[in-house]
Amino acid sequence: MEKYDLIIVGAGITGLSTAYHILDENRDMKIKIVERAPTFAQGNTAKSDAAFRDIFTSDINYKLSSSSINFYKHIQEDLKFNLGMKFNGYLFLLDKKNMESETVKQITQKTESILIEREDISRMGFKTSISQEISSVMNLKNIAGGLLGKNCGILEPDLISSFYESELRKMGAEFSYNTTVRKLSLEPALKLDFPGEPFIWQEKTIGHLETNRGDMFADNYLLATDVWTNYLLDPIGIDSHIRPKKRQVFQVTGKGIRDMVMKDYTGEPGLFPFTILPGPMIDMRPDPRSESFWISFNDDIGRDFSLEDDPVPEMDFYEKNLLTVIREYLPIFNESKVNSSWAGYYSMNTIDGTYYIFKELNVGVITGSSGSGIMKGDAAGRIAAAMMLGNKKARLYGGKEIDVDDLGIKKRNVQMENLII
Ligand SMILES: Cc1cc2nc3c(=O)[nH]c(=O)nc-3n(C[C@H](O)[C@H](O)[C@H](O)COP(=O)(O)OP(=O)(O)OC[C@H]3O[C@@H](n4cnc5c(N)ncnc54)[C@H](O)[C@@H]3O)c2cc1C
Repeated sequence: MEKYDLIIVGAGITGLSTAYHILDENRDMKIKIVERAPTFAQGNTAKSDAAFRDIFTSDINYKLSSSSINFYKHIQEDLKFNLGMKFNGYLFLLDKKNMESETVKQITQKTESILIEREDISRMGFKTSISQEISSVMNLKNIAGGLLGKNCGILEPDLISSFYESELRKMGAEFSYNTTVRKLSLEPALKLDFPGEPFIWQEKTIGHLETNRGDMFADNYLLATDVWTNYLLDPIGIDSHIRPKKRQVFQVTGKGIRDMVMKDYTGEPGLFPFTILPGPMIDMRPDPRSESFWISFNDDIGRDFSLEDDPVPEMDFYEKNLLTVIREYLPIFNESKVNSSWAGYYSMNTIDGTYYIFKELNVGVITGSSGSGIMKGDAAGRIAAAMMLGNKKARLYGGKEIDVDDLGIKKRNVQMENLII
């Protein structure tokens, strides 16, 4: 019966990044990472659009994303570990009201971003004026211009995960794949061996994990189990405060689309920016490998909170909702077809749209990435690592510090995030 200092459940980007930063600070710790899939990055990390941006409305999300982006850039440029990172930009298409808003002004002051004129957006292939009739029926907005974030783009989540996994093996971490944790065993810290333990008057602890491969023991545990966290916490009465929201991606191709994907925002050969339409904020992620756009939308009211084992993308949702809007802005989509599609889940913090990172008893929890866990994955891992090491502050890449309690539940101190895409 081997005992570990720490067992981390979940080998998505969050679990891997946390384990990496723990071992980076304390090489002597004996860590095991347990994952039910046959290998790493098979959960929502694999379903992601894998786009990154430092454009957020809350200060905390700006810090988490910008420091993570810089760390990934360091891995790719200095350590020469290719992450497929491309700085093709994020283009928010805006109506007149948003173009002149205080939020947009603040973003241009805080981040490396520029405003783009309506004529330039037209040159990219967008129809910027929508007929009165259609805009009143469908609530579509005319495009007055765009905000282009330059420290933004796309990357490959399996490659970042692979960086962390290979480094973790070098640092001595153990992995147990094909291992499903079925239960956290709640036990008295001081066992009396009376039936019915633990009683309310006993100090409690998680004694071991029950898995399909037998019981596993550690002093501390960390759940990096994303939307599945509640399955493990609900039975022991700890609330993770997150809810699952299904998200779908439709890979769309077509002759004109191919040409569009492989041009930058000025029309030169390159890569189209990750683009967000005004009105229903449908996003278009260019994929250079398949020369297609990945189309996605963060639907809120009307999309239930159910969680299925194998979520299926709904073609009807694409055709009646997404395509109906896109073809009004991009007539080129009249000649398009969906080549493939998939679905996953956002682990939503429905209050402020940012991670929950907290510890109860000897179990740490990191969840609630709210649709941006790749672009913030490194910073979030540093905060969870600091928490598990008992540090009050976490140091992000580049040197900024964050109080670990700020992301917790009891002393939470974050602003609400208004830009969840
Ligand atoms: C369609 C879609 C598009 C997205 N687009 C973006 C984007 O453009 N940019 C961005 O930054 N983020 C994006 N995200 C969000 C991002 O993918 C997630 O925030 C991130 O992957 C979360 O990582 P994670 O490691 O916390 O979770 P996961 O990758 O889901 O990892 C959790 C792991 O825990 C394992 N697990 C769960 N329960 C158990 C158990 N009981 N026993 C053993 N193992 C268990 C799972 O198998 C899984 O591997 C998107 C998500 C979706 C669904």
